[in-house]
Amino acid sequence: MAKIYDDSNVFARILRGEIPCKRVYETEHALAFHDIDPQTPTHVLVIPKGAYIDMDDFTAKASEAEIAGLFRAVGEVARMVGADGPGYRILSNCGEAAHQEVPHLHIHLFAGRDLGRMIG
Ligand code: IMP
Repeated sequence: MAKIYDDSNVFARILRGEIPCKRVYETEHALAFHDIDPQTPTHVLVIPKGAYIDMDDFTAKASEAEIAGLFRAVGEVARMVGADGPGYRILSNCGEAAHQEVPHLHIHLFAGRDLGRMIG
């Protein structure tokens, strides 16, 4: 069954300027801001400006420019926050089994400490 984007989600509201965020970086295609409940010393979310629910939806429907724009933004943000030297982790929860809370695609960027081994 096709998933329907719900534009009342918190990241859609941030994109519309209805609620504030701690902005890190912005381009035509992407917005990056600090997570409100950081799990690591640096925890930034990078989101596409288009209305995409998750990675599945994005890779099926977004243009090449939007896809390139989002991933370039992730790399740019990693360099800006100095995460590219010691290393960082990117992660995107997709769907119920992954416990995705906000139904607008977001890529978590974790950095600022040893992140341990990622298992499952
Ligand atoms: P998910 O579980 O992968 O969907 O992650 C959602 C993330 O959004 C969590 O890490 C939340 O802390 C974060 N979050 C929820 N509301 C806000 C907000 O208003 N600003 C910034 N981050 C938020």
